[in-house]
Amino acid sequence: MEPLIRLLPDHVANQIAAGEVVQRPASVVKELLENSVDAGAGQITLVLKDAGRTLVQVTDDGRGMGPDDARLCFERHATSKIRAADDLATLRTKGFRGEALASIAAVAQVDLRTRPQAAELGTRVAMEGSRVRAQEPVAMAAGTTIAVRNLFYNIPARRQFLKSDAVELKHVLEEFQRVALAHPGIGFQVVHNDQELFRMPGSAPDAAEGAALRQRVVHLLGRRYDERLVPVEESTGHLRITGFIGKPEFARRTRGEQYFFVNQRFIRSSYLEHAVRAAFDELVARDHHPAWFLFLELDPAHIDINIHPTKTEIKFRDDRSVYAVLHAALRRALGRFNIAPSLDFEPEPAIMSAFAGMPSVPAVAPVVKAPDWRPQDLGPRRDPTGWQQLFDLRDGPPGPVPPADMGLERPAAHVLPMGEAEADHGPRPVFQMQGGYIVSPLRSGLMVVDRKRALERIAYERALKRLEQGNGPSQAELFPRNIELAPQDFALVGELLPELRALGLDLEVFGGRTITVRGLPAESMNDDPAALLDTLIAQLHSERGTLRLERHAAIARSMARSVAARSEEAPAQEHLRDLVDRLFACEVPYWTPGGKPTLITFGLDELAQRFDRG
Ligand code: ADP
Ligand code: MG
Repeated sequence: MEPLIRLLPDHVANQIAAGEVVQRPASVVKELLENSVDAGAGQITLVLKDAGRTLVQVTDDGRGMGPDDARLCFERHATSKIRAADDLATLRTKGFRGEALASIAAVAQVDLRTRPQAAELGTRVAMEGSRVRAQEPVAMAAGTTIAVRNLFYNIPARRQFLKSDAVELKHVLEEFQRVALAHPGIGFQVVHNDQELFRMPGSAPDAAEGAALRQRVVHLLGRRYDERLVPVEESTGHLRITGFIGKPEFARRTRGEQYFFVNQRFIRSSYLEHAVRAAFDELVARDHHPAWFLFLELDPAHIDINIHPTKTEIKFRDDRSVYAVLHAALRRALGRFNIAPSLDFEPEPAIMSAFAGMPSVPAVAPVVKAPDWRPQDLGPRRDPTGWQQLFDLRDGPPGPVPPADMGLERPAAHVLPMGEAEADHGPRPVFQMQGGYIVSPLRSGLMVVDRKRALERIAYERALKRLEQGNGPSQAELFPRNIELAPQDFALVGELLPELRALGLDLEVFGGRTITVRGLPAESMNDDPAALLDTLIAQLHSERGTLRLERHAAIARSMARSVAARSEEAPAQEHLRDLVDRLFACEVPYWTPGGKPTLITFGLDELAQRFDRG
């Protein structure tokens, strides 16, 4: 009997396999751009027609191919990048399976022109549906141009599956952005239907890494991103993390620019994403998304590379420590930023160099604000009145305490090192005005604190600490109060009893649906127990959804909101300074746990501008 099993002809096998690699024009763009990067290109040009349907053409000035390679590169599993399975562990290139060009040539008309630097002539190879149509020498500049025409010309079903040009172009540009972000050293130009969409130079070889990436982000996403970026830099044993995160206040409701690169390859990872979200916890409202451009570098041996190359998932050998290092790096970056509100911390070369013995800011200083200062340097945690120095750090010589009419102090005539300035500073005046705002003049402007929000932040951190330690001080009520609760409230209180006790609420279940309040947290001792409990229960109900996920944070948030909501309208003057001191003693003074600002500052510049002083 004649055998039923037959080998598929090559071009059919290629077409089937191509489905894995080439889904749409964007896949072609990705593969060609990555090949150019792997070829060591310094300049890459991408030309598109009809979102890549009609033409995707990539030109590079990379190492090029000789005549034999120019033909071989279209064979399946033809690659110059690995020779043996062991090479996978040390792989640094984007491609390695040698499948992309074979797949593309199976489903499009491909015209390759390529010339190594050393050769006089280049080679042209024309392919169509996996078949060689032409091979001939051509005169050309060194490098490679691959034109891919009429994608899926031989598979109408696939062609019909493509979306509108607008959608396909969006996918194409996403792929382009990923490659462009990962390689700031390479210059790019993108032209679509004869219109130039992007043109960006590669960074100078000696450019600082951070500055180069910042420049690239600005080229891709616009000038306005410049002020939004907080630098990240962390290095431990096997792992180096660099890049930028977006400042919390620029987080958006829609998912913004979120990029992870591992060894310069774009990846997706919900695990790493979680580490970032956790680091932004409290700084960004739940339904907002911060931006990030983060680069992880580690020995390829610590990554499981044995995955499909067009997939963007990745496996780390030790994903827990990657998570921990990433989280810590971001907390540190955010902390540095928190301590450095833009008002006083812009490094001004003139002022900086006035500090004897301090290095002056280099001329090409990135727009990074006070990059080397860490929370522990100024330590508002250790010294709650640190905010006064914080805002005075680079001020003029100590002047008299300003009069109580809120007049701003005279601007700095010259600069003294911090130690001296600190020595005889009087305390800053603090005032409360209508609407629960606390105002305090600073030498370089003024600060307005939202009193309730400040309280919320302070109460939140206090509550969190108590929950972690499990022992909030409680002030015994003179007369224990019995309070009857609605059934669902009673159930909630019962469920959270240990935590509520840790917060300093001395509660006992009396029976039925009644609880006995024996004591309140010390700071709420003048409050009406029933009213406080009521507010707290309402807040806890609103956190129901998050209680299971992050119990302590949700309870602390509820407590903080209740304390803020029930605070006196007009606290005594002497409490105001204490409040501001305690705010600045917080770990994250600038935002409420829900991500709203607790204070804003006005610089002298801004005031001068408002008065049109010129
Ligand atoms: P892979 O990138 O996985 O090796 P490809 O099918 O993408 O497989 O490419 C096959 C080979 O063709 C590459 O290994 C490389 O040697 C060569 N090649 C492809 N594109 C270029 C280019 N732009 N410049 C120089 N060589 C290239
Ligand atoms: Mg490749």
